[in-house]
Amino acid sequence: MHTTAPTTKHAPRTRRMAKSVIALATTLALAGHAWASSPDGAAAAGQAYAIDLTRYFPSPEAEASDLATCKRETDRLVAAKPEDGKALYEHLQAAAELMGKLTRHARYFKLQASRDIDNNAAAESRHQVGAIGDRLMDSVDATLHALDQAAFDRAVAQAPELQHYRYYYQSVVRSAPHELPPDEQDALDTVTQPAADALWNIYQQTLRTTPSLKIDTAAGVRDSKTDADLLAHDPDRKVRQTAWQYRWQQIDARAELYAANLLGVVRQNDKQAKLHKFPDAVAAAYFNDALDRERVDAALAQFKEHTAIYKRYQQLRADHAARQAGSTEPHSWDLAYTPPGKTIPQLTLDQSRDVTLRALAPLGQDYVNHFRDLLDPANGRMDIAALPGKRVADGYSAYAPGVPSGLFIQSYGHGYVADTRIIVHEGGHAVHGQLMNEAGTSPLYQEGPHWLFEAYATLNEFLMYDYLAEQAKDPAIRAYYLEAGLDNMAFQLFGSAEETALEESIYDGTAAGKINNAADLDATALGVWQQYEIWPAIDPELKHVWASKRLMYQDPLYLVNYLYSGLVAANMLDALQHDPKGFAERYNTLLREGFGADPQTLLDHFFGARISQRQMVERAAGIFASRVAELERAYADMEHMKH
Ligand SMILES: [Zn+2]
Repeated sequence: MHTTAPTTKHAPRTRRMAKSVIALATTLALAGHAWASSPDGAAAAGQAYAIDLTRYFPSPEAEASDLATCKRETDRLVAAKPEDGKALYEHLQAAAELMGKLTRHARYFKLQASRDIDNNAAAESRHQVGAIGDRLMDSVDATLHALDQAAFDRAVAQAPELQHYRYYYQSVVRSAPHELPPDEQDALDTVTQPAADALWNIYQQTLRTTPSLKIDTAAGVRDSKTDADLLAHDPDRKVRQTAWQYRWQQIDARAELYAANLLGVVRQNDKQAKLHKFPDAVAAAYFNDALDRERVDAALAQFKEHTAIYKRYQQLRADHAARQAGSTEPHSWDLAYTPPGKTIPQLTLDQSRDVTLRALAPLGQDYVNHFRDLLDPANGRMDIAALPGKRVADGYSAYAPGVPSGLFIQSYGHGYVADTRIIVHEGGHAVHGQLMNEAGTSPLYQEGPHWLFEAYATLNEFLMYDYLAEQAKDPAIRAYYLEAGLDNMAFQLFGSAEETALEESIYDGTAAGKINNAADLDATALGVWQQYEIWPAIDPELKHVWASKRLMYQDPLYLVNYLYSGLVAANMLDALQHDPKGFAERYNTLLREGFGADPQTLLDHFFGARISQRQMVERAAGIFASRVAELERAYADMEHMKH
């Protein structure tokens, strides 16, 4: 989860609309697949690391003095009126360098705020740095926007080095028709931001105020909320069923509240999008992600052609879980069942670091060396606590020009595979940042569309699960890692496709006046879910699935990013298998160059040819199918061992 304050401009996007989006979303993806929190925290004990903050500034006084200089430089640049190509180039260079410096301040404060959620001073300082960055970039964009194409071309003719910023100029031009005058935007923000916050708060309060149920189990009384993971794994089927059904009964009891909440979000987004001169909220969100409706809908149609393999995976898991649980009728509550005596693998942080380096070996020696440096305790680049304490519940990478990149994780946890996943994912962002900074990539080009940015971290995840499954000797452990890897890949590809389809349908139906209440949302969700899943036919409670998709409330229309990050990552995995040698070099180049071109151009260059979206979906489905076949073999091996 790359978090930005100061906002480096997201290449093609209306920056203001997207500002709040950036920090939130990817955290959830990581939380999504957490395994049981076992009472055994031994795996984590004793290992804790802190990033050396003097790398950022030797003292708080040095920080304050540097920030004062940055403020003066911002004032100077905001007042400047570059008159020719050379002056414009120097102006942009100075702005980029200043953004790099401001990023350094923002990371410094973010790390301090993250270590102690009560440190409001650090949070406030970070906010102020972000505001300086916004002021600077608003002014840069206004300067560029004032130039028409002919004027920009003339400037490039005067100073050919300005060509480097052509893509940035194009991004400003692309967004310009959707930007409001600053005072109108401020007025709009003043009204809409508190409303959006309130809608998200209502969602959280609804969850929080839902009463929990005490459930008797062989291991003692459990709480349906705080012990949800343990209950899902409970050996007693009745216990699992009670916990699962209770959760959905509570959603059912509050369905109209969830519906009013979601429809509020949808209508607000739609009105805002229209003010920005988009036909609707879906069009606005896709535009901001460098996508468009036609392309996304084509991808959804192509994924729908492959739902058979997704359903086959679900059936395989269902049948296996039922066999293990000694039942013939699998239900949703059987999926996490852990048979007595089956151990879920746990790794210490040291083992997790070791696995990371081995799993990412296919990405090349240079990449692995960079990752090793990041994770070397002697380098002071990890900020990972043994216990959560007052640290923010988050994981992210911190990078800024001139400082070695860092990895922040609240705490390492119990050492389940999800904990290693956070290291390969967030560490992947940190290595990416390090590579861009070493290559001298402009701070204006260090961020791109979320889906492309996240694709690199997702590739690391795919490699990690593959590696863990390959090296497992015990068929049960191998099956465990294959299941975890397939759950992850299914979530990225098919899960994101069905969620994207659902969210689109909700926006379309609401705009058309066809969705007005919980029953309408149920019908819409059921329509989409039945196309992709075997489960609604087995457990009809899943018609309320729209109420459980918190990202739709927190970060509307973000889900499509997972679809494309999964698609790109799966195709990178495919390319890696076909050309292991050439891959590492091309991948390194891609990471280092950042986002100084249209994402399609970057990918065409990386893959060495244009891969059509249809081909990408075919290859991704092929990768998924090959892992499903492996899981089938692993299950067969397990059965074989039993007899
Ligand atoms: Zn991420």
